[in-house]
Amino acid sequence: MSQKEKPKNLIDGRKISRQVKEEVKEKIEELKKLHDKSPGLAVIIVGDRPDSRTYVNMKKKACAFVGIKSFERKLEVDVTQEELIKIVREYNENPEINGILVQLPLPKHIDEEEILSQISLTKDVDGFSPYNIGKCAMKGRDPLFFPCTPYGCIQLLKRSNVEISGKEAVIIGRSNIVGLPVSFLLLKENATITICHSRTKDIASTVKRADIIIAAVGIPKFVKAEWVKEGAVIIDVGINSVEDKTRKSGRRLVGDVDFENVKEKASLITPVPGGVGPMTVAMLMVNTLRGFERSLESEQKEKENEKEKEN
Ligand code: NAP
Repeated sequence: MSQKEKPKNLIDGRKISRQVKEEVKEKIEELKKLHDKSPGLAVIIVGDRPDSRTYVNMKKKACAFVGIKSFERKLEVDVTQEELIKIVREYNENPEINGILVQLPLPKHIDEEEILSQISLTKDVDGFSPYNIGKCAMKGRDPLFFPCTPYGCIQLLKRSNVEISGKEAVIIGRSNIVGLPVSFLLLKENATITICHSRTKDIASTVKRADIIIAAVGIPKFVKAEWVKEGAVIIDVGINSVEDKTRKSGRRLVGDVDFENVKEKASLITPVPGGVGPMTVAMLMVNTLRGFERSLESEQKEKENEKEKEN
């Protein structure tokens, strides 16, 4: 889409993510002046899936921009579970690293849940641990890290001045990494939430009630214009590769929303690409900075305790 063709009701995820990264960069520069230290993020990638490679490169680029040191471990696809656990544990112990990210999906012979559970809670910048998700679900509690994509969705709404409190939000999808946690975060913001999934009987009429629609299904153009209430705000999390013979690659990315038709009814809508995707990476930077700040705080406390003991 050229600059000229951009509809007025577009939520520009690239622009908002740039603002977020600028804020992170500024804070990191400030902390570096005070403590002569920078945050570190470790990424573990298994095998050579091109999509995983692309995501890891995006994260490394964002780290370089904001001033986070990136550490990368690229492992062969036949790496054993034990070797992988050993690497996670090494990173857990490394004080230079404030965030550990295991790029998913992992090969079938690896127990993904077990690997993720090995990441220290204080370095779980993806926010996928049951502890963090549990805290997201609890009233009046905050997790150590909000999961990046759901966190990015909320930031897109807030930074576009969308009132969430008291609004009817319909979330399509209940995955542990998107649909479920984004529902919890919307609830924290005092929305009334409804979660739809593959067994929901009448998605169209449920979605029609929504002031805010979050689509996280993984089916191209799933949400139709007829389902959308005039003036609804739409966050399209989907990233689907579809055939496009007009492109050199023969493919293009589309979301879970029938963008061309739905944009006519929405008051605000995210595009794909350029919507939620860049925010996921930006929120990873925010989380890594938060991990770093916490480690500085605990160092400070330790110093104070030592001083007290001396006195
Ligand atoms: P997922 O784990 O496959 O979950 C899909 C969800 O959609 C499930 O809860 C499923 O219901 C529901 N669903 C499937 N078919 C449905 C139907 N016909 N009607 C209603 N609900 C249906 O996917 P995910 O990991 O949440 O990802 C969703 C999309 O977001 C994908 O396109 C993914 O690529 C994208 N994504 C984007 C980002 C980003 O940074 N932008 C990050 C993560 C994911 P059941 O639970 O009943 O099976």
